[in-house]
Amino acid sequence: MAARYLFDPPRPRSKKAARTIKSLLVRCPSTSKLTDTGRTVEEKLWPAAKVERQKFTCAHCGKIHSWEKADVVLGRPTT
Ligand SMILES: [Zn+2]
Repeated sequence: MAARYLFDPPRPRSKKAARTIKSLLVRCPSTSKLTDTGRTVEEKLWPAAKVERQKFTCAHCGKIHSWEKADVVLGRPTT
């Protein structure tokens, strides 16, 4: 007679989406503070991401800065 499991075989762990979402932060040239651009990206996609130069209104100095990929610092989402 074939051996039978008396208990459930180990289940694969429920995969919680192990995605890491990062905020795109840009350093304000006037105050040197990091400013959240309001955009987010999945961390592992970032190295391959194409980002065009774009603008945002700075929360620190109120001016409009333009930024591109090279300016971005990945940070924790602020929400
Ligand atoms: Zn600024």
